[in-house]
Amino acid sequence: MKINELTDGTLRNYVNGEWAPVSGSDGKDIVNPATNETLAHVPFTEPDDVDGVVETANDAYEDWRNCAVEERIQPVFRLKQLLEEHQDAMARVLVQEHGKNRDEAAGELRRGIENVEVACGAPRLLQDGFLENAAPDIDEMAVRRPLGTFTAITPFNFPGMIPLWFLPYAVATGNAFILKPSEQDPLTAQYLFHLIDQAGFPDGVVNLVHGGPDTVNALLENDALAGASFVGSTPVAKHVYETAATTGMRVQAQGGAKNYVVVSDSADLRYAAEKTVSSSFACGGERCLANDIAVVVGDAYEPFVEEVLDLVDNQVVGDGLDSKTDIGAMITPDHAARVVDLIESGIAEENELLRDGRDTSVDGYEEGTFLGPTVFGDVDTDSRIGQEEIFGPVLGIARAETFDDAVEKLNGTDFGNAASLFTARGREAREFRNRAEVGNIGVNVGTAAPMAFFQFGGRKDSFFGDLHAQSESVVRFYTDETVYIERWPDQ
Ligand code: NAD
Repeated sequence: MKINELTDGTLRNYVNGEWAPVSGSDGKDIVNPATNETLAHVPFTEPDDVDGVVETANDAYEDWRNCAVEERIQPVFRLKQLLEEHQDAMARVLVQEHGKNRDEAAGELRRGIENVEVACGAPRLLQDGFLENAAPDIDEMAVRRPLGTFTAITPFNFPGMIPLWFLPYAVATGNAFILKPSEQDPLTAQYLFHLIDQAGFPDGVVNLVHGGPDTVNALLENDALAGASFVGSTPVAKHVYETAATTGMRVQAQGGAKNYVVVSDSADLRYAAEKTVSSSFACGGERCLANDIAVVVGDAYEPFVEEVLDLVDNQVVGDGLDSKTDIGAMITPDHAARVVDLIESGIAEENELLRDGRDTSVDGYEEGTFLGPTVFGDVDTDSRIGQEEIFGPVLGIARAETFDDAVEKLNGTDFGNAASLFTARGREAREFRNRAEVGNIGVNVGTAAPMAFFQFGGRKDSFFGDLHAQSESVVRFYTDETVYIERWPDQ
């Protein structure tokens, strides 16, 4: 489907199996960041109307929770097939509203589909323990039960993948679900719900609500919701965690990141540079797993910098729909201005500017929001660019005297999302696994992105809660373990 087939220009909610006009007068234009062309308008659902959606979903939950699990996974499985059939067309829509390139868009959808596949394993994932003779004449059994209606509030940077970290698991485990996608690029979610409409879910089980912060707060303050999953920036993640806790619902909130890569003096430096450049600049650096600080040990610093600059000079900036593009457009001019402000702070704090991507324009796309790759050398990891999330195409390279110094630097931020090590020494790899205070660790891997059958980790200011997204962890989040204790005395 193309954008004009998805919407007549104003996005709608999907509630109780139908497309419904959004009530709110507030809203936002969705703009193609490569061309500055307005693609559609998304109105924000009024807080008062959110309660009606929760009620509808809770009604649908009453039947859905009692459906056989084998029946529940059939529409989930059909959703997988539909997503595969529409992957290319959906990637095209995603590129136009987000700016990333087509391979990146198709890749994130593939990662989303993997979660749908894993959720189809609900008949196995939901099985729990049984113990005969747990006590004299007593058998004990634990069962996992759904809890009601869950919401997921998702960010702009992976509009295709992140909703699927939650949605398929929530419904396959017997809950109803409400998605509140990012208001910056909600057309991909609109596409997803066109597929959900065809997948055969009973009305009201899966719902889409567009909106901004007020819509989110109305969801979090609704005590008829069973829980909320959130992915976004750290200040909002904290706010979501605290607000949802006041209501008493379950909450898992993934926040921002500042990811370091450590390059050992034993590493294959060309390989480490290739993986680091790809990790830093893919999706224009708008990734929570982007490694944007490389700490290089000892004499490896100079040759590593040389390899990085060689690769960076070949990065092509442009429209994501152009197959030659490596780095697409930034999501909004405001976001690009924030990245530029951080680059300027890097210069002011006397980090060495090796490549400057600030004044980048693309022929034929003069209205677009583009930044080229920026590289800093001799980075002071205590400076702003060493500590703050940049979320743009900026890589800082720092020196460390020893492997221990490098690990200390990576643990010196408030965040704990991901870190990678490039090394040829097993001993360093083992130490790194043990000491890096992050939830996703890569060794000789540029971007430590867990497959759908492992949880997506995160620690410190990168995650608030205990049960994470994806896999068994999210199944536990969406279910409650009830224990039965049974004895049959002689009559
Ligand atoms: P954001 O926090 O601005 O927005 C995320 C969601 O929160 C959106 O749906 C938005 O409508 C809502 N929201 C925004 N402000 C709000 C407020 N004041 N009150 C209530 N709701 C509000 O994040 P973003 O800019 O869309 O996404 C980028 C951020 O997401 C980065 O910090 C990135 O690191 C993070 N992220 C983290 C992960 C992870 O796994 N840890 C994954 C992807 C993105």
